[in-house]
Amino acid sequence: MRLDMPAEGESALIERIARRVGQASVPDAFRLVLGIGDDTAALQIGEQTLLWTADMLLEGVHFRLDWIDPASLGWKSLAVNLSDIAAMGGTPVGALLSLALPAECTGAWLDAFVDGLAECARAYGVALLGGDTNRAEQVVIDVSLLGVMAGRPMPRSGARPGDWLLVTGALGGSRAGLHALMAGEASAIDLTPHFRPIPRLQVGARARELGATAMMDISDGLAADLPKLLRASGVGAVVYAAQVPVHPAAAHWAQAHGLDPVAFAIAGGEDYELLIAAPPSAAQQMLECIPAKTGVSLTHIGEVIAAQEVWLQRADSRRESFAIGGWDHFRA
Ligand code: ADP
Ligand code: MG
Repeated sequence: MRLDMPAEGESALIERIARRVGQASVPDAFRLVLGIGDDTAALQIGEQTLLWTADMLLEGVHFRLDWIDPASLGWKSLAVNLSDIAAMGGTPVGALLSLALPAECTGAWLDAFVDGLAECARAYGVALLGGDTNRAEQVVIDVSLLGVMAGRPMPRSGARPGDWLLVTGALGGSRAGLHALMAGEASAIDLTPHFRPIPRLQVGARARELGATAMMDISDGLAADLPKLLRASGVGAVVYAAQVPVHPAAAHWAQAHGLDPVAFAIAGGEDYELLIAAPPSAAQQMLECIPAKTGVSLTHIGEVIAAQEVWLQRADSRRESFAIGGWDHFRA
């Protein structure tokens, strides 16, 4: 898969918006560190860098009310935003929650939703500070999250040829849950990865300290998100298929349906694991320290190359194109 072509789908739309608004400028007290195009925006004020991100969850697009319980949906709404703060190596501070609700979701459903969101907020030391509430035919959830850090946030654009690529946890667990729900076989699979993703905040902060060059969270699948990091960095990569950590639920689902487990695991989104690029010595240190200190596994899955192309290398050294898909709202 070549990376030096114009962006398509959702990325092309975002680029279109960015072009149309033109150069961003901020008041004198701030320095704009990162605008449109990374996991969060970043604004420096004095010694501190503020991180700012927003993510929407839409009924019928991201969730169905007959599939997900309201408490899990509340957890997930905040967790997906926390994941973007994790991807910069920052610390979350406070959230705004904007909701559109149909009448049937304004009582017990809403209480359970807020309880789930509050549980996630407590777990990661975030406060709910405001938002907006409206009536609509379907549920719309839009969380905006503020984070903070001292020093430079970890952009998508810093990966260099020779860097190792690492991922946290395992991939495909959320997609396995989604496929089980779509097939009406939810009892066959653990739905926790799909319903309650874990933002990798500690890992993100440590990876930055230990010398990562680029980082992002995997929200649309490795197959969609790795090319975004590589494009931002102007590089390419080889990923070793045998080293990709496939979530047990994904392995189980793929096996039961005659699918390639690695292709299945990287093609879908919502794992919210971190993708980290780092020079080999820093990466080795991360592999030694981070799992021991955080309890989160970390796997070396490939290397950054200078050529702007991305390959999936099989155990027999055969190279396949990485054009597997991944999630994009504006592509078939
Ligand atoms: P993520 O998956 O990390 O949440 P997205 O792919 O949603 O990131 O967005 C990529 C970048 O584009 C981010 O910097 C985001 O803030 C920006 N972005 C997305 N949608 C818009 C929009 N409608 N207007 C301005 N910026 C946007
Ligand atoms: Mg992200």
